[in-house]
Amino acid sequence: MSTESRTKYIFITGGVVSALGKGIAAASIGSLLQARGLRVTMLKFDPYINVDPGTMSPYQHGEVYVTDDGAETDLDLGHYERFLDVDMTKRNNATTGQVYNEVIARERRGDYLGKTVQVIPHITNEIKSRIYAAAKTIDRCQILIVEVGGTVGDIESLPFLEAIRQFCLEEGQENTFNIHLTLIPYIKAAGEFKTKPTQHSVGRLREIGLQPNALLCRSESPVDKELRDKIGLFCNVRPSHVINAPDLDSIYKIPQRFEENGLGEIIVKHLGLECAEPDLKSWIHLSEKIDNVSDEVTIAICGKYVGLKDSYKSIIEAFVHSGVENDVKVNLRWVDMEDAEKNGIDGQFEDVDGMLICPGFGSRGTEGKIMSARYARENKLPFFGICLGLQCATIEFARNVCQLENANSVEFLEATPHPVIDLMETQIDVSQMGGTMRLGAYKCKLEKGTKAYKAYGRSKISERHRHRYEVNNSYVETLKNHGLTIAGTNPDTNLVEVIEIKDHPWFVGVQFHPELKSRALRAHPLFREFVAAALRHKAAR
Ligand code: GLN
Repeated sequence: MSTESRTKYIFITGGVVSALGKGIAAASIGSLLQARGLRVTMLKFDPYINVDPGTMSPYQHGEVYVTDDGAETDLDLGHYERFLDVDMTKRNNATTGQVYNEVIARERRGDYLGKTVQVIPHITNEIKSRIYAAAKTIDRCQILIVEVGGTVGDIESLPFLEAIRQFCLEEGQENTFNIHLTLIPYIKAAGEFKTKPTQHSVGRLREIGLQPNALLCRSESPVDKELRDKIGLFCNVRPSHVINAPDLDSIYKIPQRFEENGLGEIIVKHLGLECAEPDLKSWIHLSEKIDNVSDEVTIAICGKYVGLKDSYKSIIEAFVHSGVENDVKVNLRWVDMEDAEKNGIDGQFEDVDGMLICPGFGSRGTEGKIMSARYARENKLPFFGICLGLQCATIEFARNVCQLENANSVEFLEATPHPVIDLMETQIDVSQMGGTMRLGAYKCKLEKGTKAYKAYGRSKISERHRHRYEVNNSYVETLKNHGLTIAGTNPDTNLVEVIEIKDHPWFVGVQFHPELKSRALRAHPLFREFVAAALRHKAAR
């Protein structure tokens, strides 16, 4: 097989502690290879038994990322899409739950012909087949980067590591590259960086039969060559392949930093890839813009999980992208909606330039969101409502403009006299919890002359969804008669997708999740225009 046609594989494991930014590191490595003209995609293995994170609490898991094909996935897929600008699919994320589900279903069908079904080879074979399947999600994939969730030493990740060991043996050393991400802690009292945890972690990997080809060592501040040499010696890794990854002030500076440390060259050399010289211009440009914005705006983020920023990962990143395109730094002011519900919103929004109401489930904090939407409408504060945010804005408008007393969503109050937000037809008979919402990409047609149309510059769009409830079409006439614009609808089902308020500088609510399609080098048009509106508001203030 020629170099051009075969896929090569990079595996990324993590050691010492979790939360070292493995997903971001993996995505950054992907962008280094893309910068050489290579076709790259990604796969995330999650060693938990849940079939997908869709049923997990945001406190446990952070944001649930949704792909075009409607998979509820790990938030690392968001990093992959943001960095690589490649659409992920359900095949780009696999969990232990999915792997076992598949193997057990096959066993029930009798496919194993009476054999004892075991972790090795049946589970590991299923894991390997998922690696091949992920490589097929893009045309002529040259590199698949596989990130293994969890930390080496966890019981849960063992089958994945064993499968990778087998895979590397079968595919050959020259076609596979193993990267282990670790932490080099700094011990203040001793005034020293410590390499022992890294040595132990690599030791655990080698016990399983995996020898890292490179180490990515996270640290608070840069570590010197002597220390890197020592790590190389103890871990059986070439000293030049021990790459230090000190903390940076923006994740978007990581690709450039990895490149400067030679990681891109090390990988392409090992894998024998013929490719172009790296072109990281757009990443360098992005880093420079992040450092040199000319203004700033403050946006109030009205949510329920404000203590846990991972729940709103994609929204936070979308503001970085849209800030850069507007040449401003976007400061986020987190406003707790449960608190607002109890104590009111006085003084929360007087000095902000825009308000975003977050997605969410369940009634906690929704009255706070409804109050906040009212403030934005009445005070002509730029407003952006996402999913539940659109629903709360609609309820507010129905109650206070259309005078529909006690209007509500049946999600929060089943007996509401005015169910302006109602359960979707398709959801009525659903009793199972996982994967049963309206999920993934749906078409939307935007009306000419609306703010949304202006942002996208076209009327046919497609955006991702994750919800059960919708604007009740039997109230649409009333809402419209009182000044609400239905700016976008689904052309097949006529479901409301975008609302706007006519007599307002920028008031847009969307039933979909635009934050899932904002990319580092290509901000989402609605976020971009929202930030622009906030900037105008600030100038006028
Ligand atoms: N809870 C609402 C629904 O299910 C909104 C969901 C969301 O914000 N993603 O329709």
